[in-house]
This record gives sequence, C-alpha cells and structure tokens, in this order.
Amino acid sequence: MLAAEITPIAKVGGLGDVAGSLPQALYQLGADIRLCLPFYGSIDTKKYKVKKVAGEITIAINGKKNQASVWQTFLPGTRIPVYLIKNIFFDCQEIYRGCKIMKNNRYVDDANDLERFSFFMQASLEAVKKIGFKPDIIHLNDWHTALVPQLIKSPENKIFFKNTKTIYTIHNLANQGITKENILKFANLDSGSPLIKTDSENGDINFMVQGILGADAVTTVSPTYAKEIMTAQTGAGLEKILKMRGNDLYGILNGVDTVFFNPLKDKLIKQNYSLKTLDKKVANKLFLQKKLGLPENKDIPMVGFIARFVWQKGIDLINGTFSGLKCQFVFLGTGDKKYEDSLKALAKKYPSQFSAQIKFDARLAQEIYAGSDIFIIPSRFEPCGLTQMIAMRYGAVPVVRSTGGLADTVDESVGFVFKKFTSRALYVAIKKAVDGHRNKKKWRAMQVRGMKKNFSWESSAKKYLDIYKKLTNN
Ligand code: ADP
Repeated sequence: MLAAEITPIAKVGGLGDVAGSLPQALYQLGADIRLCLPFYGSIDTKKYKVKKVAGEITIAINGKKNQASVWQTFLPGTRIPVYLIKNIFFDCQEIYRGCKIMKNNRYVDDANDLERFSFFMQASLEAVKKIGFKPDIIHLNDWHTALVPQLIKSPENKIFFKNTKTIYTIHNLANQGITKENILKFANLDSGSPLIKTDSENGDINFMVQGILGADAVTTVSPTYAKEIMTAQTGAGLEKILKMRGNDLYGILNGVDTVFFNPLKDKLIKQNYSLKTLDKKVANKLFLQKKLGLPENKDIPMVGFIARFVWQKGIDLINGTFSGLKCQFVFLGTGDKKYEDSLKALAKKYPSQFSAQIKFDARLAQEIYAGSDIFIIPSRFEPCGLTQMIAMRYGAVPVVRSTGGLADTVDESVGFVFKKFTSRALYVAIKKAVDGHRNKKKWRAMQVRGMKKNFSWESSAKKYLDIYKKLTNN
C-alpha cells in the first residue's frame, strides 16, 4: 500500500488515519501487507527506529539518473513493515506543498508536489523490486499514488509486476493532482499509451483520472459518497469517468483505530472513562475549559470542532450569531488564513464562549473529543469523515450535515442531522443539541447509543480483502 501520510508516523488528516489503521485490520485477516511512505524530514527517527534496508536505488527523472535509499520502520505496535523512501525531495518538515530544497548551496522553492509524489511512486516500485517483494495487489490512495497503474506497465517494470493488480481508493475528489504534460517526461511515462492520450487531450495530466481509469478496481470511503461522486454536484468534473467505472466502483466505509481512540485507555486525556463510568467524562470538560481559558462550568455544553480549515469543512457557516447559543465552542485546526482569522476574531469578540486553537495538536484533539458534549461537522461534502465517529466513541454527540459518510454514520438516534448548507440550519441543529443536553436521561441514552456503535475496521477490511481476492482470482 502506498500513501502520502501514515498515522502516527506522518499525519495531516483522515488519509493518514486510514493508511495507519486499515493495514492492521488486513494483517489480522492474514494479508502480508507492507507500506511505502516518503521519508519526510519531520519523521521522528528515534521514536520509529528507522533502519536502512536496501542500498541505493536508481530512478530516472527527465531521463537522468537519481538516487534514493530505502529505509524501514514498523507501523507502531505491529510487525507491518513501512518502507521509507529517502531523497532530497522529502527532506523537509511539510508533507504537502513542496518545500525548500538545497540547490547550488542555496535553498530554493522548486520542488512541487506533483514531481515529489511522481518520484515517490517510481521509487516505491524500485524499492519493492530491490527488496524482492512481489505484491499481488498494490493498494493506492489518492492522487499522490495514482500513476502506479501506468508505471507498472513501463518496459522496466512490466515483467516484475506482470501479475500485480491495482486498487485505487479515492479519499477526496477535491484534490486531483493536475499538471502539465511535461510530467510525462519527468516520470518516464509513455505519452503514446491510450490512457495518457485520452487524459492529455485537454493539455494537462490529471493524476486522479489516471488512478480512476488505470486501476483494476476503484473504491471510495463511504457508500453515500460513492453515489454522490457520480453526480455533477459532487463529481468535481469527473462524474462521467467515474460512471464509466461504475461496475468496479465500491463505497466502503472507513473504520477508525479503536485501540487508539478509546476513552478508557487514551493516555493523552486527563480522565479516562468508559460507557460504565461516563459520569467521569465531565472532568475532561473542566480540564479543557481551564486549559482554554473558558469559564469553568460543568453544566454549560462544550461544542468541539476539529478539522483542516478548508472550504469543504463549512467553517464559513459559523458567525457571531452563534454567540446567542448557550454553550462554549472550541475550534482546532489550521489551513486557509481567512478561516483562521474569522475564528480568531470570534474568539476575540466573545472570549468567554469561543476558543480558536490554530495549530495541529494531537493531544489537544484528544482532549477536545473527551471534553466535548457536542461535536459539529457542518461539511459542504464529506467523503467519509472520521471526527464524527471518534466523537461518538468519546460520548460527544455529533451535529452533522447530511452528506457523504456523515449521512452513513450519524442518524437521529445518535446525533443531530441537518440538510441545508446554511448558517441558519447549522444554528438550529446546534440549538436542538444544546436544548437536548438539558434532558440528562435522554442525553445519556443518546451518548450510550453512539458509544456502542461499531466503528472498527473489521467488516470494511473484509470488503477490501474480498476485492483483492476477486482481482487475483484467489
Ligand atoms: P480529513 O480527512 O478531511 O482531514 P477526517 O475527518 O477524515 O478529515 O480526519 C481528520 C483527522 O485529522 C482526525 O483524526 C482529526 O482528529 C485529525 N485532525 C484534523 N485537524 C487536526 C488538528 N489541527 N490537530 C490534531 N488533529 C487533527
């Protein structure tokens, strides 16, 4: 399996969580699964005990030979190897957005993500060849890995990967990886192949399209999103080609890492608790209120929100009128400056009600899940969404917009659902939750139903395995 992020080694969002937890479930089911990840400069090499496993590998870019080396660690707590591709392309703190690299003794800004991840794909294939691991299946995730179906057909690769099938998982259609045709030369791709020809008709190469049309099977991360992406509204311009793959397109709901996301064992939270000791949860709220500088009051509902601050997440629905609700809000995330600024402004104007935490902070995220009574996910679209599932595991009641995976995981028995993408609809839904919080008995019953839901990978991992088997006729 190739991925640009793998939690906890390198994480930005849900993609990392999936790539860090689905493999464990597949391993349990008997798959000999191994992962490939770029060796980012931000990876904690002491914590993850990396070892060099293969000498130099050679990757041609723009026809010129480049070297990379292959290192290995294990997915923490498992025997699942993670191969790390080391090259100057990844020698930076960031996972995305390119980075400054050293050239002629100066840092320059010339490493773009399309090139970095093309290199990652090419190098990953070289790495497994060098190691001598011939996979039956290569499982790909999002555009960063989407050229592989084409790359394994190249003259250098086609013999080794003769019997290898590919499966491509769409985590988010909003990011497609679109670039100029010169990427073909960069990645040694055959501009004459039928798939490349079709893709380049409009003058660019779309990595996502390569994955969708090139892979033997295509999946996405929830049944509802699988249907939505075949419509013009959510298809992001690719609905037609997705429909073409309709027979090989599967919607499989993501699971969460139920060992990590467990309020009884979570080492990052103040007070552990479970279904049986749910009364203890309130200590986490008081701790969170104190930490954030909000008035400490066990009766006032705490509303949590954790996300990448991007257009998709519906942050623009939140405004000053929400101060009319009798609750406190905490927002955790980073991203577009306009969203960061608008939430910071709210926190400044209403310091006893809003807290804006503009950062990536894994500990604070857990403290928010544990300390919140209500958790909001007002997304425009949401392929799956993990935060609503995590929130439910921690007894925080979700308020979600009915779209994608949110529609598949939250109904009125465990949360509050609204349909229209408007501030008013979100406001009304939060108000219902805040009012509902006063009825202790009903509220507790709702929390319990949410906590009892099974969000483990078990059944979804079996579905992936079934597809692997189907592809390999096993
Ligand atoms: P997406 O994949 O669109 O980022 P998901 O809901 O699928 O959204 O997954 C988000 C994951 O990233 C969750 O585990 C969430 O807790 C985590 N996360 C997002 N932003 C932050 C942040 N600022 N600090 C810590 N964790 C974060």
